[in-house]
Amino acid sequence: MTTPTPVTPIDAEDSEVVDRLGAAAIDTPTALLDRIAAGGATVLTDDATRAEAGRDWWPLAIGWAAEGGVPQRPRAVVRPSSTEQVAAVLAACNEAGVPVTPAAGRSGVCGGAIPVHGGIALDLTALDGIVAVDETSLTADVRAGTFGPDLEAALSDLGTGYTLGHWPQSMDLSTVGGWLACRGAGQYSTRYGKIEDMVIGLEVVLADGRIVQTEGKGPRAATGPNLTQLFVGSEGTLGVITEARLCIHPRPPAEQRRALGFASFDAGLEACRRILRRGATPAVLRLYDRTESGRNFEQPDTNVLIVLDEADPDVLAGSMAVVDAECSPAADARALDDGLVERWLGHRNDVSQLAPLWRAGVVVDTAEISGRWAVLSQLFEEVVGALTAIDGTLAASCHQSHAYSDGACLYFTFGGRGPEGDDEWRERYYRQAWDAVTDATLAHGAAISHHHGIGLNRSRFLPRALGSGFEVLRGLKHTFDPKGILNPGKFGLASPFGPAPWT
Ligand SMILES: Cc1cc2nc3c(=O)[nH]c(=O)nc-3n(C[C@H](O)[C@H](O)[C@H](O)COP(=O)(O)OP(=O)(O)OC[C@H]3O[C@@H](n4cnc5c(N)ncnc54)[C@H](O)[C@@H]3O)c2cc1C
Repeated sequence: MTTPTPVTPIDAEDSEVVDRLGAAAIDTPTALLDRIAAGGATVLTDDATRAEAGRDWWPLAIGWAAEGGVPQRPRAVVRPSSTEQVAAVLAACNEAGVPVTPAAGRSGVCGGAIPVHGGIALDLTALDGIVAVDETSLTADVRAGTFGPDLEAALSDLGTGYTLGHWPQSMDLSTVGGWLACRGAGQYSTRYGKIEDMVIGLEVVLADGRIVQTEGKGPRAATGPNLTQLFVGSEGTLGVITEARLCIHPRPPAEQRRALGFASFDAGLEACRRILRRGATPAVLRLYDRTESGRNFEQPDTNVLIVLDEADPDVLAGSMAVVDAECSPAADARALDDGLVERWLGHRNDVSQLAPLWRAGVVVDTAEISGRWAVLSQLFEEVVGALTAIDGTLAASCHQSHAYSDGACLYFTFGGRGPEGDDEWRERYYRQAWDAVTDATLAHGAAISHHHGIGLNRSRFLPRALGSGFEVLRGLKHTFDPKGILNPGKFGLASPFGPAPWT
C-alpha cells in the first residue's frame, strides 16, 4: 500500500496542532468508532494521523502548517480494505448522522479532502491494486486507492505492456479514485483524453451503504443516462468510488518531439487551435508565455511550445506532419532545440519550490481554467492583468496546458508578498487573487476549473459558475445523500452541519 506524501512538515508537536478553519466540528461518538472497528476497517485516532488527515495540498494550508496549524482535523481516520467495509462504515455514519470525507492521496490543491466538520476521514488507500484486465478489449478493473506509479508499473508488466496514458503532474501523489472524483487531466491528455474519457464503469458506495455498479458492460451503451459520469467529478459529495473500469492502451512504440518559439502567445494559441482543428492530437501540446518561457526554459524572448507525441508510427507521422505544417515561420514560429522537451520531461513534476516560498512569506498558487478558443486570447490578457493589478503581486504568468478541438486549459501561476506586520494580508490577498481569476473567467463564459476541481477553495464560486444547473446538483445531492453526510461544506451546497468557512 502506497501512502500520501505530505507537502511540508507541520511545525508543532502532534498534540499541539491547531485547527485553522474554525467550523463547528460534529460530535463523533466512541460507540460509532467501536462499531466501525468491529466491521473490520482500521480506525486511527492518534494525534499525528488526525493532523495529517486534516489537510491536503491546498497551498494556503502550507502557510498554516508553518504556524503549527491544519485546516480541520477529523475525529478519526477510518481505513477500509474492501468495498463491503466501505459500505458498513457509510451505513453506520449515515445512521448516526456523522460526516464522512473521502480522502486518498490528499494531493488535491483546493482543500477537497479536508473534513470541514470533523467526523470521519475515510482513507481509501488500502483499496489498491488491479482486479482484472481484458487484454483483448483493452480494459482494466482497478481499485480506487491505487496510486499512479503502482498502476502504471502493473500495466507495464502485463503481456506486451500497457498504459492508461494518464500522467498528471501529481502522478506520484494521487490515486485512481482521486483522479475520477476530481475529473483530472494528465499531461498527455490531448492524445489519451482526460480521466472522464478513460472511465467506462464504476463501483460506488452510496451514503446509506448501498453498493451500485454503473455502465461498463459494453462500449457507448444507450441504456439511459450515463450514470458513470454522474459520479465523475463529484469530489466525494455523492458517493464513494471503490473500483473503476478503465480503457487502457498498448504501450506506444514510437515517439517524436518538437520545441518551437512563437513571436506572441496569441500566435502560439492560434497554431494549437489549427493543429486540433485538423484532427491531429499530439499527446503534449503546451504553450508558455514569455515569463514562463524565461523561468522554465531560459527563453524569455519567445513563447515556447513543447510538442511530444507517442503512437503507432503511421499515426505519429501524420500527427507530426500537421504540427510541422502549422508551426512554420509563416505562423510566426521558429524551431528551437528539441532538447527543451527533454528539459520539460526532467522537471515537469518538480514542485520543490512551493513550500519554501510559502515559508518565506510569499503567497503562491495556480489556477487552471478552460475556455473556448474564441475567448482564450482575451482571457489570458485579462486574468494576467487582473492578478498583476492586485497590491502585493510579484508575478502572474500563464501556460496553455491541455488543448482540444473546442478550446484549451489556461494554467495561471501567481505570487505575492505583503507588508511586514500585516497579519491578515495573506488570507486577504489569497481571496482577492482567486476572486480576480474567477470573475474574469466567468465574464468570458469560461469554466472555473479544468482539472483541479472545486474543493473548499472554489466552493463559493460554484453556484454562480453552474447557474441554473446548480439546482440539478442540489437535487442530485438530496437524492444520493439525503442526510448530507458526504464531504459536507463543499460545492457551495447547504449542509446540516452548519455553514462552511471560506465559502
Ligand atoms: C504538485 C501537484 C500537481 C498536480 N497536478 C495535477 C495534474 O496535472 N492534473 C490533475 O488533474 N490534478 C493535478 N493535481 C491535483 C490532484 O493531484 C488531483 O486532484 C488528484 O486527482 C487528487 O487525487 P488524490 O488521490 O490525491 O485525491 P484526494 O486529494 O485525496 O481527494 C480529492 C477529492 O476527491 C475525493 N475523493 C478521493 N478519492 C475518492 C473516492 N475514491 N471516491 C470518492 N471521492 C474521492 C475527496 O473527497 C476530495 O474531494 C496536482 C496536485 C499537486 C499537489
